[in-house]
Amino acid sequence: MEVIKPGSTIGILGGGQLGRMISLAGRNMGYRFITLDPTPDSPCGQVADFQITAPFSELKAAKELADSSDVITYEFENVDSNVASILETTSFVPQGSTLLKITQNRIREKTTLHSCDVPVTPFMVIETENDITTAIDCLGLPYVMKTATGGYDGKGQWVIRNQDQISIAIEAWNKAGVDMIIEQFIPFSKELSVIVARNAHGQMKTFPVAENVHTNNILHQSIVPARITDEQRKTAERVALRIAESFQVVGLIAIEMFLTNEGEIIVNELAPRPHNSGHYSMDACITSQFEQHIRAICGLPLGDTTLLSPIIMVNILGQHLSKVLDKMDQLPPTAKLHLYGKKESSKNRKMGHINFLGPTFEQLNQQINELQIWT
Ligand code: AMP
Repeated sequence: MEVIKPGSTIGILGGGQLGRMISLAGRNMGYRFITLDPTPDSPCGQVADFQITAPFSELKAAKELADSSDVITYEFENVDSNVASILETTSFVPQGSTLLKITQNRIREKTTLHSCDVPVTPFMVIETENDITTAIDCLGLPYVMKTATGGYDGKGQWVIRNQDQISIAIEAWNKAGVDMIIEQFIPFSKELSVIVARNAHGQMKTFPVAENVHTNNILHQSIVPARITDEQRKTAERVALRIAESFQVVGLIAIEMFLTNEGEIIVNELAPRPHNSGHYSMDACITSQFEQHIRAICGLPLGDTTLLSPIIMVNILGQHLSKVLDKMDQLPPTAKLHLYGKKESSKNRKMGHINFLGPTFEQLNQQINELQIWT
């Protein structure tokens, strides 16, 4: 594969925080950036060399991006996959559009994972209204109904706990008018994620396993290293590597997993890009997930992912931002603040994160609690 050398221009479909952090890492390495996003002065646009402001579905704008780029990447998986596949025919899109298409749809994603012998949450596709009732016989209660496409941070999801709530699920299904699945509810002991990088030469590297804590279905904290046994860690890494290899990933893939009460690892979902649960790597690993993504798509050797310190990453949502700004003088000297430059703050919108580094989790939890930002 051709090596895209520093000095070249990387085009990013999407101008959010992930694009911003890819650009910041790549600028250190000497790359130039151009981004496409409908919001003027987007988080990525603020740090890129240039932003094309247009809807993602506008082919003319995507072609303009392609004309100015030596390599194209995407920073979120709901990029119009038709646009990505057209770009693929004329430009260098090393991640390809196939993985994008698979991960945009839970049915395709789970079916593909299953065919690669990867353990996934037992599920069924809803074909008729009656399936919403009969799902109880195959999957039991509670169960989770999810839209096949477009869901994130718990949006497009309904947990059905008893017979009386079936009518809620039926109403939601009729109203949504999109494909949906029903999954068995997994009473997990922990949620984990593993990010794997793979380059076109087939070289692969995992990042240390993160233990993720969600509040209202939104990632709140990533604790690294995850507090799991050595064997569980090896299983999580093995599953992640198998996925990256089977899917012939180029770039990053983030794999979210459940660790069940019985100690089993089950894959929940995939993201073919840098991931919120990998933000800890910016300050705690020799190579960050963003630098690694650039290395992978540019055909460079992958960097060392060794963890240098225990770390807790805490997300800053809209409701936390003013408290963070008021308490800047109280942040410990080993806490690293990252803000995304979003113009508008709203409840539950991801505005930034803080990486708390230190020798023990007890100490880090104490620092986090004393700040009283997330209480
Ligand atoms: P997802 O959008 O699939 O990542 O789901 C968001 C969050 O909902 C997950 O991080 C879990 O906390 C929870 N969740 C999703 N699916 C299940 C399930 N099948 N069983 C238990 N909890 C789930």
